[in-house]
Amino acid sequence: MKSDDKGKARRLRRLQERGAERAFEGLGVAPGIGIGQVHVVETGMITVSEYQIAEDKIEAELERFHNAVQKSQRQLRKLSSKAEELHGAAAEELGFLLEAHKQMLTGSRVTRGVESRIREHRVNAEAAVQFVISKVEQDFASLDDPYLSARADDVREVGNRILRNLTQTAYEAFKNLPAGSIVVAEELTPADTALLDPKTIEGFATVLGGKEGHTAIMARSLGLPAVLGIPDLLRFARTGQGIIVDGGAGRVILNPTPATIEDYQRRLEIIERDERQLTRLRKLPSVTRDGQRIGLLANVELPREAEMAMHAGAEGVGLLRTEFLFMNRDDLPDEDEQYQALRQIVETMEGQPVTIRTLDVGGEKLAPSLRDHLGESANPALGLRAIRLSLKRRELLDAQLAAILRAGVHGPVRILLPMISSTSEVKQVREALLQVARRLKRRGLKLPDPLPPLGVMIEVPGAALSADALTQVADFFAIGSNDLTMYTLAIDRGEEQVAYLYNPLHPAVLRLVQFATEAALRARIPVSVCGEIAGDPKFAPLLLGLGIQDLSMAANSLPRVKQRIRNLDYLASARFARQVMDQWDSGRIAMLLDDFNALAT
Ligand code: PEP
Ligand code: MG
Repeated sequence: MKSDDKGKARRLRRLQERGAERAFEGLGVAPGIGIGQVHVVETGMITVSEYQIAEDKIEAELERFHNAVQKSQRQLRKLSSKAEELHGAAAEELGFLLEAHKQMLTGSRVTRGVESRIREHRVNAEAAVQFVISKVEQDFASLDDPYLSARADDVREVGNRILRNLTQTAYEAFKNLPAGSIVVAEELTPADTALLDPKTIEGFATVLGGKEGHTAIMARSLGLPAVLGIPDLLRFARTGQGIIVDGGAGRVILNPTPATIEDYQRRLEIIERDERQLTRLRKLPSVTRDGQRIGLLANVELPREAEMAMHAGAEGVGLLRTEFLFMNRDDLPDEDEQYQALRQIVETMEGQPVTIRTLDVGGEKLAPSLRDHLGESANPALGLRAIRLSLKRRELLDAQLAAILRAGVHGPVRILLPMISSTSEVKQVREALLQVARRLKRRGLKLPDPLPPLGVMIEVPGAALSADALTQVADFFAIGSNDLTMYTLAIDRGEEQVAYLYNPLHPAVLRLVQFATEAALRARIPVSVCGEIAGDPKFAPLLLGLGIQDLSMAANSLPRVKQRIRNLDYLASARFARQVMDQWDSGRIAMLLDDFNALAT
């Protein structure tokens, strides 16, 4: 068979296969069961406006286009290696399609056409891409051969990929989805995920994404069942099909039969019954069997989550990720807007402390308005981000500090700094805080007295190892085990291909947690854990045993962690932690932890 014929046969087979029930395995990143209908996120032709560029800006425009093409190629390479996890015809078919997309990005009619349109017509890259793509697409679509005319879809897909990478557009299409939708996409960014409304959306499933990335964290916070990293999901999923997402088991079922739906409905009822029982714990204290109180706080990304935190019985907010105020918009929120958003959260928490982290943008958390300031880095996770960006762009930091100070008049707040790696960064922020406070006073505004405590995230190995020095300049520590694990083990937390290596139980990570905790306890400053391990009841005995007395987690996780704490013995946990810290094998540590949890429940 010629390769075109093979392609036709494959497409036909794919169509025929659509009706049957089909199960997929992936990374279950947020528990729960969603039953509904598929909504495939079509990247949709992004509408872009055309504008003229000056002669001396042509080279820069070409570079923008080339950067977007390179990014598209990187994405396609990632998708290809994900496709290699499949076997036989499936791997072949998907590989074939991705290869075709890759070819369109290398010295093709598309790329050459865009380059000459930018040069000759002096238009912006987006307009040039849109023009060339619709031309090529029309040419294909007008062909009489159904297989070749279907290639128009591929051209459009490639064009949209370049446009999305040029404009960094977030999906806006989630707003009007019918109730019961389950979003299926190649990848959702944290900003995309923030737009999902749990009232209408029952869950989501994607081809790319890792377990500890912010998309996963967001899914857990919103209580949305989610499965990521399914290589061939988009080959079979079509909008409108029936679908089940089992976030606990990491399974997605397309076109479930009535018997499968009934089975999952029963499972869902059991989960809901368990959850109702757990809400009875809401008013009970978080205290171990031998009387040790443990503070349970909530991680909050979106203002609406503060109410969920209160509902779950949180004793405050241990981590407010302010970067979400900067996402899904083209401009920066000014001081006043930030103040209003923070004030709302502080007031919702009714006098309980709210720990507000300054902007932690960069890496996978992107804000369009800051795109030009972050720059293109080969290693964004190690680049200009978080506190480094805030200290470089002082107007950003000053606006945040002013908004936090003003919100602090409405209830207790603490200021938390992300990605700290040296004492000098903390000193610079403290200096900035004093200046901002003086300026606000001159404006006649009321300020919290004394000024709020200034704490640091311990999430970079260098910070953990110099924790004793940091206690001299910081008022409290919050251990970010997500990044601490990523940076200690050199594993990208959002990268599904190395997800199997991501392990907070690695002795290197645990030793850093222990070192930082002991430094804080010696200096008598509060220390909490606010990474994802804080919300997993399994880790509670180890963290308590290491001396942690405050845990901050997604509101949904709080009841289960409280249940675990109320069943724990604090002294036994301390003995257990000593035993764990003598180990050097993470597999053995995981086994000891499982045994301890099995015994003590
Ligand atoms: C962490 O790194 O553990 C953390 C809590 O911060 P984030 O997940 O926002 O990076
Ligand atoms: Mg972090």
